[in-house]
Amino acid sequence: MDDRLRKAYSIPHTATNPLRDACLTSVNLTLDLLDGCAYHCDGCFVKRKNKVNDDDLKDIARLVDMWEDQGFGFNETFVGPTDIFSADNFDAIFDNEDFLALGEHFTFACVSTLLDDYDKIAARIEKIRQYSPNWRGRGFECFVMIDIEKYLANDTAYMVDLWQKLELFDLDDVFFTVNVDKFGRFAQLNLAELNKRLMDEFNPPSKDCTTGLRINPSFLRSNNAVLVLEYADKLRQIMLEEMEGDLVSQVYSNMINVHANATTFHDYTYRNHELYVAPFIYEDIPVTDSAFHIPRNEDGFWTQEQLDDKHRELFLKQMEYAERTSECSTCPHLATCTSRHMLTYMESRHIGKCILPKELLTEPGENANALAQCVRTA
Ligand code: SF4
Repeated sequence: MDDRLRKAYSIPHTATNPLRDACLTSVNLTLDLLDGCAYHCDGCFVKRKNKVNDDDLKDIARLVDMWEDQGFGFNETFVGPTDIFSADNFDAIFDNEDFLALGEHFTFACVSTLLDDYDKIAARIEKIRQYSPNWRGRGFECFVMIDIEKYLANDTAYMVDLWQKLELFDLDDVFFTVNVDKFGRFAQLNLAELNKRLMDEFNPPSKDCTTGLRINPSFLRSNNAVLVLEYADKLRQIMLEEMEGDLVSQVYSNMINVHANATTFHDYTYRNHELYVAPFIYEDIPVTDSAFHIPRNEDGFWTQEQLDDKHRELFLKQMEYAERTSECSTCPHLATCTSRHMLTYMESRHIGKCILPKELLTEPGENANALAQCVRTA
């Protein structure tokens, strides 16, 4: 094992975790369970139709039991991929006992445009709180998709309506989100100004809540390698040239910390009855390529040994693929990227050059802004 790998495998995932968690591997789970979405946000690449039934929710609960038996910790479950308040099957999911039991383990996160009726959103927020009643004494995380067109037009009716609905999240963390959209409205945004406005104007009643801007790289779900490269280059250029001050660390604190979401996390996606390893590229990316797929065994389920074998297989393949890229094999961040399954993603899209703003990746402590953000969100 070379020095870069040894280093990555010997350091806990953030500088701020308690010592008792230093050796704990935690699971992040992205659940593509929601079916249907009433909206068409620019730059959205999610598949809006998802098949889910009670057996899926039983299987997910069984996986969580298996991970608990194996001594894994739990971090976050993102229930998506579509607007949670407009999903057709919201009640079927949130009335299910197996699903509700997951809330004992995971922080719950979701996404919404907040364009549904106030009363419908209020009722669904109450139901979500049944799922996640005690997370750090707070609520859950909601990523609110900003309507960029209306924001840029300073549409008063939209802003007033949005602010009224935001008051419903009195216990919860709200992150304002825009999709990367290379040729559309995204390119017209002044991200620093948008972030400042949202931070200044949204003051949740609970001082303990977190807010700020997030940039969603939804394009990474696309199978179109040309499109992925175009959008990734645009995002990289914006991060390197246009995002000033501590905006990068506020928007992508986990991505720029080389230990975050690396060896001490196992990230998975469950979609359409199947389980996948999830690459972490800016955030967990639920791609369903065969390279990430973990087939069910003859018993119709999975063993921990199978999952461990899959991680080992992907690690070795990535080390081989690094030699076929233009710069990964000599890059100081290779250990981080293989831990995050970055190179498996690159190979699946036939990408041979770096698509990350790697100049921004740092050890915690090297970048005071990044560390400050870790402390704020830990
Ligand atoms: S993807 Fe970029 S940052 Fe990662 S190992 Fe390759 S060159 Fe380095």
